[in-house]
Amino acid sequence: MTLIPGDGIGPEVSEAARMVIAATGAQIEWDIQEAGAAVAAREGTPLPDRVIESIRRNRTALKGPIATPVGTGFRSVNVALRQELDLFAAVRPALKLPGLPSRHPRVDIVVIRENTEDLYAGIEFERGSAELQRLRDELRSLAGLDVPADAGVTVKPISITGTRRVVAFAFDFARRHGRGKVTVGHKANIMRFSDGVFLRTAAEEAAAYPDVEFESCQIDELALRVASEPESLDLLLLPNLYGDIVSDLCAGLVGGLGVAPGANLGWEYALFEPVHGSAPDIAGKGAANPVAIVLSGAMMLDHLGEGRAARVIRDAVQSVLRESSALTPDLGGTASTEGMARAIADKAAEVLGSA
Ligand code: ATP
Repeated sequence: MTLIPGDGIGPEVSEAARMVIAATGAQIEWDIQEAGAAVAAREGTPLPDRVIESIRRNRTALKGPIATPVGTGFRSVNVALRQELDLFAAVRPALKLPGLPSRHPRVDIVVIRENTEDLYAGIEFERGSAELQRLRDELRSLAGLDVPADAGVTVKPISITGTRRVVAFAFDFARRHGRGKVTVGHKANIMRFSDGVFLRTAAEEAAAYPDVEFESCQIDELALRVASEPESLDLLLLPNLYGDIVSDLCAGLVGGLGVAPGANLGWEYALFEPVHGSAPDIAGKGAANPVAIVLSGAMMLDHLGEGRAARVIRDAVQSVLRESSALTPDLGGTASTEGMARAIADKAAEVLGSA
Protein backbone atom coordinates (compact mmCIF):
# COMPACT_ATOMS: atom_id res chain seq x y z
CA MET A 1 0.00 0.00 0.00
CA THR A 2 1.11 3.55 -0.56
CA LEU A 3 1.70 5.49 2.66
CA ILE A 4 1.91 9.28 2.50
CA PRO A 5 2.99 10.54 5.94
CA GLY A 6 2.13 14.17 5.13
CA ASP A 7 2.82 17.44 6.95
CA GLY A 8 2.61 18.71 10.50
CA ILE A 9 1.36 15.92 12.77
CA GLY A 10 1.13 13.62 9.71
CA PRO A 11 4.41 11.73 10.20
CA GLU A 12 3.69 11.14 13.92
CA VAL A 13 0.17 9.81 13.42
CA SER A 14 1.12 7.79 10.31
CA GLU A 15 3.81 6.00 12.30
CA ALA A 16 1.19 5.28 14.96
CA ALA A 17 -1.15 3.80 12.35
CA ARG A 18 1.61 1.54 11.03
CA MET A 19 2.31 0.31 14.54
CA VAL A 20 -1.34 -0.55 15.20
CA ILE A 21 -1.90 -2.19 11.81
CA ALA A 22 1.26 -4.27 12.29
CA ALA A 23 -0.13 -5.50 15.65
CA THR A 24 -3.14 -7.04 13.87
CA GLY A 25 -0.84 -9.28 11.85
CA ALA A 26 -2.19 -7.90 8.56
CA GLN A 27 0.63 -8.29 6.06
CA ILE A 28 1.03 -4.85 4.54
CA GLU A 29 4.08 -3.77 2.60
CA TRP A 30 4.23 0.03 2.69
CA ASP A 31 5.44 2.07 -0.25
CA ILE A 32 6.30 5.33 1.52
CA GLN A 33 5.83 8.45 -0.59
CA GLU A 34 6.56 11.99 0.52
CA ALA A 35 4.21 14.79 -0.48
CA GLY A 36 3.55 18.22 0.97
CA ALA A 37 5.55 21.18 2.24
CA ALA A 38 9.00 19.57 2.60
CA VAL A 39 8.90 18.11 -0.92
CA ALA A 40 7.64 21.41 -2.29
CA ALA A 41 10.66 23.20 -0.78
CA ARG A 42 13.04 20.63 -2.32
CA GLU A 43 11.43 19.87 -5.67
CA GLY A 44 9.18 22.81 -6.43
CA THR A 45 5.99 20.77 -6.28
CA PRO A 46 4.16 19.38 -3.24
CA LEU A 47 2.83 16.46 -5.30
CA PRO A 48 5.52 14.80 -7.45
CA ASP A 49 4.25 12.50 -10.22
CA ARG A 50 5.77 9.47 -8.49
CA VAL A 51 3.23 9.80 -5.67
CA ILE A 52 0.30 9.53 -8.06
CA GLU A 53 2.07 6.70 -9.92
CA SER A 54 2.52 4.82 -6.65
CA ILE A 55 -1.21 5.07 -5.84
CA ARG A 56 -2.15 4.04 -9.38
CA ARG A 57 0.12 1.00 -9.00
CA ASN A 58 -1.06 0.01 -5.52
CA ARG A 59 -4.66 1.21 -5.96
CA THR A 60 -4.95 1.89 -2.24
CA ALA A 61 -3.25 4.45 -0.02
CA LEU A 62 -3.22 5.65 3.56
CA LYS A 63 -2.43 9.31 3.89
CA GLY A 64 -1.65 11.73 6.70
CA PRO A 65 -2.82 15.35 6.43
CA ILE A 66 -1.14 17.69 3.97
CA ALA A 67 -1.29 21.42 4.58
CA THR A 68 -2.35 23.75 1.81
CA PRO A 69 -0.22 26.88 2.22
CA VAL A 70 -2.45 29.93 1.74
CA GLY A 71 -1.40 32.30 -1.03
CA THR A 72 1.73 30.40 -2.22
CA GLY A 73 0.27 29.49 -5.56
CA PHE A 74 0.19 25.74 -4.77
CA ARG A 75 -3.04 23.96 -5.45
CA SER A 76 -4.28 21.87 -2.53
CA VAL A 77 -2.61 18.45 -2.71
CA ASN A 78 -5.73 16.91 -1.19
CA VAL A 79 -7.97 18.38 -3.88
CA ALA A 80 -5.43 17.51 -6.60
CA LEU A 81 -5.29 13.85 -5.49
CA ARG A 82 -9.08 13.59 -5.44
CA GLN A 83 -9.31 15.02 -8.93
CA GLU A 84 -6.32 13.15 -10.47
CA LEU A 85 -7.55 9.79 -9.17
CA ASP A 86 -11.23 10.61 -9.60
CA LEU A 87 -11.97 9.89 -5.96
CA PHE A 88 -15.48 11.23 -6.24
CA ALA A 89 -16.91 10.13 -2.91
CA ALA A 90 -15.63 10.99 0.55
CA VAL A 91 -16.94 8.73 3.29
CA ARG A 92 -16.76 10.11 6.83
CA PRO A 93 -18.35 8.09 9.61
CA ALA A 94 -19.19 9.79 12.92
CA LEU A 95 -19.87 7.21 15.60
CA LYS A 96 -20.33 7.95 19.30
CA LEU A 97 -17.35 6.36 21.01
CA PRO A 98 -17.27 5.03 24.56
CA GLY A 99 -15.62 7.13 27.24
CA LEU A 100 -15.76 10.41 25.32
CA PRO A 101 -18.05 13.21 26.45
CA SER A 102 -20.85 13.92 24.00
CA ARG A 103 -24.07 15.93 24.12
CA HIS A 104 -25.89 13.00 22.57
CA PRO A 105 -25.88 9.39 23.73
CA ARG A 106 -26.45 8.00 20.24
CA VAL A 107 -24.66 9.36 17.20
CA ASP A 108 -24.09 7.06 14.26
CA ILE A 109 -23.97 9.12 11.09
CA VAL A 110 -22.06 8.58 7.86
CA VAL A 111 -21.42 11.65 5.73
CA ILE A 112 -20.88 10.99 2.03
CA ARG A 113 -19.47 14.07 0.38
CA GLU A 114 -19.26 14.64 -3.38
CA ASN A 115 -15.55 15.22 -3.80
CA THR A 116 -14.79 16.67 -7.23
CA GLU A 117 -17.28 19.40 -8.14
CA ASP A 118 -18.93 22.42 -6.54
CA LEU A 119 -16.79 25.33 -5.33
CA TYR A 120 -13.78 22.96 -5.18
CA ALA A 121 -13.66 22.50 -8.96
CA GLY A 122 -10.90 25.10 -9.13
CA ILE A 123 -12.67 27.55 -11.45
CA GLU A 124 -11.52 30.78 -9.88
CA PHE A 125 -11.01 34.33 -11.07
CA GLU A 126 -8.66 36.61 -9.19
CA ARG A 127 -9.82 40.04 -8.12
CA GLY A 128 -8.62 42.65 -10.61
CA SER A 129 -7.43 40.12 -13.26
CA ALA A 130 -8.03 40.63 -16.97
CA GLU A 131 -9.92 37.30 -17.06
CA LEU A 132 -12.29 38.45 -14.35
CA GLN A 133 -12.82 41.72 -16.17
CA ARG A 134 -13.94 39.73 -19.24
CA LEU A 135 -16.20 37.58 -17.12
CA ARG A 136 -17.75 40.65 -15.49
CA ASP A 137 -18.45 42.10 -18.96
CA GLU A 138 -20.03 38.83 -20.08
CA LEU A 139 -22.18 38.58 -16.97
CA ARG A 140 -23.35 42.13 -17.44
CA SER A 141 -24.37 41.48 -21.03
CA LEU A 142 -25.77 37.95 -20.45
CA ALA A 143 -27.62 38.43 -17.21
CA GLY A 144 -27.61 42.15 -16.49
CA LEU A 145 -25.56 41.41 -13.38
CA ASP A 146 -22.89 43.64 -11.90
CA VAL A 147 -20.08 41.84 -10.10
CA PRO A 148 -18.34 44.42 -7.89
CA ALA A 149 -14.98 45.53 -9.34
CA ASP A 150 -13.19 44.59 -6.14
CA ALA A 151 -14.67 41.06 -5.94
CA GLY A 152 -12.93 37.73 -6.55
CA VAL A 153 -15.06 34.97 -8.07
CA THR A 154 -15.26 31.19 -7.58
CA VAL A 155 -17.59 29.20 -9.83
CA LYS A 156 -19.84 26.41 -8.53
CA PRO A 157 -20.46 23.71 -11.16
CA ILE A 158 -22.62 20.72 -10.20
CA SER A 159 -23.39 18.26 -12.99
CA ILE A 160 -25.95 15.50 -13.45
CA THR A 161 -23.11 13.08 -14.30
CA GLY A 162 -21.09 14.00 -11.22
CA THR A 163 -24.11 13.79 -8.97
CA ARG A 164 -25.45 10.53 -10.41
CA ARG A 165 -22.35 8.55 -9.59
CA VAL A 166 -22.10 9.77 -6.00
CA VAL A 167 -25.82 9.11 -5.49
CA ALA A 168 -25.38 5.54 -6.79
CA PHE A 169 -22.35 5.16 -4.53
CA ALA A 170 -24.28 6.45 -1.50
CA PHE A 171 -27.30 4.19 -2.00
CA ASP A 172 -25.05 1.16 -2.63
CA PHE A 173 -23.15 2.06 0.52
CA ALA A 174 -26.44 2.30 2.45
CA ARG A 175 -27.47 -1.16 1.25
CA ARG A 176 -24.11 -2.76 1.95
CA HIS A 177 -23.90 -1.28 5.45
CA GLY A 178 -27.52 -1.76 6.45
CA ARG A 179 -28.36 1.93 6.59
CA GLY A 180 -32.04 2.64 6.05
CA LYS A 181 -32.18 6.32 5.15
CA VAL A 182 -30.32 8.77 2.90
CA THR A 183 -30.75 12.49 3.63
CA VAL A 184 -29.63 14.91 0.93
CA GLY A 185 -28.58 18.39 2.06
CA HIS A 186 -28.92 21.34 -0.33
CA LYS A 187 -29.82 24.98 -0.77
CA ALA A 188 -31.74 24.51 -4.00
CA ASN A 189 -34.13 27.38 -3.30
CA ILE A 190 -31.22 29.86 -3.62
CA MET A 191 -28.74 28.01 -5.87
CA ARG A 192 -31.41 26.68 -8.19
CA PHE A 193 -29.09 25.65 -11.02
CA SER A 194 -26.29 23.99 -9.03
CA ASP A 195 -27.83 22.64 -5.82
CA GLY A 196 -31.02 22.23 -7.86
CA VAL A 197 -29.23 19.72 -10.11
CA PHE A 198 -27.91 17.86 -7.07
CA LEU A 199 -31.31 17.64 -5.41
CA ARG A 200 -33.29 16.69 -8.54
CA THR A 201 -30.75 14.10 -9.67
CA ALA A 202 -30.61 12.54 -6.21
CA ALA A 203 -34.41 12.38 -6.01
CA GLU A 204 -34.62 10.75 -9.46
CA GLU A 205 -31.91 8.18 -8.76
CA ALA A 206 -33.38 7.39 -5.34
CA ALA A 207 -36.40 5.84 -7.06
CA ALA A 208 -34.18 2.88 -8.03
CA TYR A 209 -33.65 2.08 -4.32
CA PRO A 210 -37.15 1.69 -2.87
CA ASP A 211 -35.72 -0.25 0.10
CA VAL A 212 -33.76 2.81 1.29
CA GLU A 213 -35.72 5.82 2.56
CA PHE A 214 -34.89 9.11 0.86
CA GLU A 215 -35.37 12.57 2.30
CA SER A 216 -34.05 16.02 1.48
CA CYS A 217 -33.35 18.88 3.81
CA GLN A 218 -32.08 22.42 3.38
CA ILE A 219 -28.49 22.59 4.56
CA ASP A 220 -29.10 25.17 7.30
CA GLU A 221 -31.93 23.09 8.74
CA LEU A 222 -29.76 20.00 8.42
CA ALA A 223 -27.00 21.69 10.46
CA LEU A 224 -29.57 22.34 13.17
CA ARG A 225 -30.72 18.72 13.09
CA VAL A 226 -27.13 17.42 13.29
CA ALA A 227 -26.59 19.50 16.43
CA SER A 228 -29.99 18.97 18.07
CA GLU A 229 -31.30 15.56 16.99
CA PRO A 230 -28.46 13.55 15.39
CA GLU A 231 -30.28 10.30 16.20
CA SER A 232 -32.79 11.22 13.45
CA LEU A 233 -30.02 11.02 10.83
CA ASP A 234 -28.38 8.01 9.24
CA LEU A 235 -26.50 8.64 5.99
CA LEU A 236 -26.03 12.23 4.77
CA LEU A 237 -25.30 12.83 1.09
CA LEU A 238 -23.92 16.30 0.44
CA PRO A 239 -22.32 18.44 -2.26
CA ASN A 240 -18.62 19.15 -1.74
CA LEU A 241 -18.55 22.28 0.45
CA TYR A 242 -21.49 21.37 2.68
CA GLY A 243 -19.95 17.92 3.09
CA ASP A 244 -16.67 19.44 4.24
CA ILE A 245 -18.36 21.60 6.86
CA VAL A 246 -20.96 19.12 8.08
CA SER A 247 -18.44 16.29 8.46
CA ASP A 248 -16.40 18.46 10.87
CA LEU A 249 -19.64 19.29 12.68
CA CYS A 250 -20.37 15.57 13.02
CA ALA A 251 -16.79 14.96 14.20
CA GLY A 252 -17.37 17.58 16.89
CA LEU A 253 -20.35 15.60 18.15
CA VAL A 254 -18.37 12.42 18.74
CA GLY A 255 -15.14 13.59 20.31
CA GLY A 256 -13.50 15.99 17.88
CA LEU A 257 -11.19 15.85 14.90
CA GLY A 258 -8.75 13.59 16.70
CA VAL A 259 -11.12 10.62 16.35
CA ALA A 260 -12.75 11.24 12.93
CA PRO A 261 -11.63 8.87 10.13
CA GLY A 262 -12.30 9.18 6.43
CA ALA A 263 -11.95 7.63 3.00
CA ASN A 264 -11.86 9.06 -0.52
CA LEU A 265 -13.17 6.52 -2.96
CA GLY A 266 -13.65 6.21 -6.70
CA TRP A 267 -14.41 3.24 -8.93
CA GLU A 268 -10.68 2.46 -9.27
CA TYR A 269 -8.69 3.88 -6.37
CA ALA A 270 -9.09 4.36 -2.64
CA LEU A 271 -7.32 6.84 -0.40
CA PHE A 272 -7.87 6.69 3.35
CA GLU A 273 -7.14 9.71 5.51
CA PRO A 274 -8.25 11.36 8.74
CA VAL A 275 -10.69 14.28 8.51
CA HIS A 276 -8.32 16.57 10.42
CA GLY A 277 -5.63 18.78 8.94
CA SER A 278 -1.92 19.05 9.68
CA ALA A 279 -2.49 20.79 13.05
CA PRO A 280 0.68 22.91 12.93
CA ASP A 281 -0.06 24.17 16.46
CA ILE A 282 0.77 20.76 17.98
CA ALA A 283 3.10 19.30 15.32
CA GLY A 284 6.30 17.69 16.57
CA LYS A 285 5.15 17.66 20.20
CA GLY A 286 3.94 14.07 20.30
CA ALA A 287 0.53 15.38 21.38
CA ALA A 288 -1.55 14.44 18.34
CA ASN A 289 -4.35 11.96 18.76
CA PRO A 290 -3.63 8.96 16.50
CA VAL A 291 -7.19 7.54 16.59
CA ALA A 292 -8.47 9.31 13.44
CA ILE A 293 -5.76 7.84 11.21
CA VAL A 294 -5.85 4.49 13.02
CA LEU A 295 -9.59 4.21 12.32
CA SER A 296 -8.92 5.33 8.73
CA GLY A 297 -6.49 2.41 8.59
CA ALA A 298 -9.30 0.12 9.80
CA MET A 299 -11.52 1.41 6.97
CA MET A 300 -8.64 0.61 4.60
CA LEU A 301 -8.37 -2.93 5.95
CA ASP A 302 -12.12 -3.43 5.46
CA HIS A 303 -11.71 -2.23 1.89
CA LEU A 304 -8.90 -4.75 1.36
CA GLY A 305 -11.06 -7.59 2.64
CA GLU A 306 -9.17 -7.76 5.96
CA GLY A 307 -12.40 -7.40 7.94
CA ARG A 308 -11.10 -9.26 10.99
CA ALA A 309 -8.05 -7.00 11.39
CA ALA A 310 -10.33 -3.97 10.98
CA ARG A 311 -12.67 -5.21 13.73
CA VAL A 312 -9.73 -5.92 16.03
CA ILE A 313 -8.54 -2.32 15.60
CA ARG A 314 -11.99 -0.86 16.29
CA ASP A 315 -12.40 -3.03 19.39
CA ALA A 316 -8.92 -2.06 20.60
CA VAL A 317 -9.63 1.67 20.12
CA GLN A 318 -12.93 1.35 21.99
CA SER A 319 -11.26 -0.49 24.89
CA VAL A 320 -8.54 2.13 25.24
CA LEU A 321 -11.12 4.93 25.18
CA ARG A 322 -13.36 3.13 27.66
CA GLU A 323 -10.47 2.56 30.08
CA SER A 324 -9.29 6.20 29.66
CA SER A 325 -5.78 5.22 30.72
CA ALA A 326 -3.82 6.29 27.64
CA LEU A 327 -5.53 9.32 26.14
CA THR A 328 -3.88 12.21 24.34
CA PRO A 329 -4.37 15.80 25.64
CA ASP A 330 -7.26 16.62 23.24
CA LEU A 331 -9.24 13.87 25.04
CA GLY A 332 -8.23 15.12 28.47
CA GLY A 333 -5.32 12.72 29.04
CA THR A 334 -1.55 13.08 29.19
CA ALA A 335 -0.42 10.26 26.88
CA SER A 336 1.75 10.93 23.87
CA THR A 337 0.81 9.97 20.32
CA GLU A 338 3.12 7.00 20.57
CA GLY A 339 1.85 6.08 24.04
CA MET A 340 -1.76 5.97 22.92
CA ALA A 341 -0.86 4.07 19.75
CA ARG A 342 1.13 1.56 21.80
CA ALA A 343 -1.87 1.05 24.11
CA ILE A 344 -4.15 0.43 21.09
CA ALA A 345 -1.59 -1.94 19.53
CA ASP A 346 -1.24 -3.87 22.82
CA LYS A 347 -5.04 -4.17 23.09
CA ALA A 348 -5.20 -5.41 19.50
CA ALA A 349 -2.58 -8.06 20.26
CA GLU A 350 -4.54 -9.01 23.42
CA VAL A 351 -7.83 -9.34 21.47
CA LEU A 352 -6.08 -11.52 18.89
CA GLY A 353 -4.37 -13.61 21.56
CA SER A 354 -7.65 -14.36 23.31
CA ALA A 355 -9.53 -15.16 20.09
P1 ATP B 1 -4.84 22.54 8.02
O1 ATP B 1 -4.50 23.88 7.45
O2 ATP B 1 -3.86 21.47 7.63
O3 ATP B 1 -6.29 22.14 7.79
P2 ATP B 1 -5.64 23.45 10.67
O4 ATP B 1 -4.87 23.67 11.94
O5 ATP B 1 -6.33 24.58 10.03
O6 ATP B 1 -4.67 22.70 9.63
P3 ATP B 1 -6.68 21.06 11.69
O7 ATP B 1 -5.35 20.49 11.48
O8 ATP B 1 -7.82 20.22 11.28
O9 ATP B 1 -6.81 22.40 10.95
O10 ATP B 1 -6.79 21.44 13.23
C1 ATP B 1 -7.85 22.15 13.83
C2 ATP B 1 -7.67 22.06 15.35
O11 ATP B 1 -7.87 20.71 15.79
C3 ATP B 1 -6.25 22.45 15.81
O12 ATP B 1 -6.30 23.16 17.03
C4 ATP B 1 -5.57 21.11 16.01
O13 ATP B 1 -4.58 21.14 16.99
C5 ATP B 1 -6.71 20.19 16.44
N1 ATP B 1 -6.45 18.84 15.94
C6 ATP B 1 -6.56 18.41 14.66
N2 ATP B 1 -6.20 17.13 14.54
C7 ATP B 1 -5.86 16.71 15.79
C8 ATP B 1 -5.39 15.47 16.32
N3 ATP B 1 -5.20 14.38 15.56
N4 ATP B 1 -5.11 15.42 17.64
C9 ATP B 1 -5.30 16.48 18.43
N5 ATP B 1 -5.74 17.68 17.99
C10 ATP B 1 -6.02 17.80 16.68
